[in-house]
Amino acid sequence: VLRFESVRKTFGEQVILDGVSLDVPEHSVTVLIGASGSGKSTLLRCANLLEEVDDGAIWLDGEDVTDPRVDADAVRRRIGVVFQAYNLFPHLNVLDNITLGQRRVHKVTRAEAERRALELLDRLGLAAKAKEYPDRLSGGQQQRVALVRAIVSEPRVLLLDEITAALDPELVTEVLSVVRDLKEQGRTMVLATHEMAFARDVADQVCFLADGVILERGTSAQVFGDPQHERTRRFLSRVR
Ligand code: ATP
Ligand code: MG
Repeated sequence: VLRFESVRKTFGEQVILDGVSLDVPEHSVTVLIGASGSGKSTLLRCANLLEEVDDGAIWLDGEDVTDPRVDADAVRRRIGVVFQAYNLFPHLNVLDNITLGQRRVHKVTRAEAERRALELLDRLGLAAKAKEYPDRLSGGQQQRVALVRAIVSEPRVLLLDEITAALDPELVTEVLSVVRDLKEQGRTMVLATHEMAFARDVADQVCFLADGVILERGTSAQVFGDPQHERTRRFLSRVR
């Protein structure tokens, strides 16, 4: 579905991504791990065209989205994203937060958009909150709403960047269990996280980023159970 090919990204003198290649197969979960500043967010932002790559390419369903002639909005419509926090529009209630993009960008009627939104909210146990404003929801509920908003348009791939980082520990579980459900549904996801237990549990593929490259990649069992690189071992022993 998504393929990174020798992606290079610099900020001024600083080389953040120095030739990152990665295949994200359909119906699979790819987890990015690595120290703070290792470029996990930058890689996700490049895929969503929030950052321009300096070199290399990113392919979405066979289309090079880094081609300057590409319609960025059309690409973003096929990618769902949820970031760490402040994802919702504070002046819109839950239902409008979810349906606004559907109505504006995807040209779906209000009735249809609301039907889809309510169905998903119901599945996540949030139907009663449809008319509530974000500041009346817990952080965990807000992130679940943000997840609903990201999937309501049936994107080809979901990019999740530290979606539990701003949450109290007791709220982390409820958000992670939604991600687990999305995996069960066969969604294609790439997520950056510092939650190693969760990463280990949910990942089909784990990538350890260091020095601007994917230093180690493998199944969850390989990377967590039997890391090959000294750097990976050190990182895992520090975070566990
Ligand atoms: P964390 O685990 O803390 O979220 P990360 O792996 O997501 O870290 P990035 O946010 O991708 O790391 O940042 C990688 C490096 O790029 C950092 O050194 C950061 O300072 C730098 N960086 C990110 N965005 C910018 C920017 N817009 N301008 C300049 N430098 C940036
Ligand atoms: Mg980050």
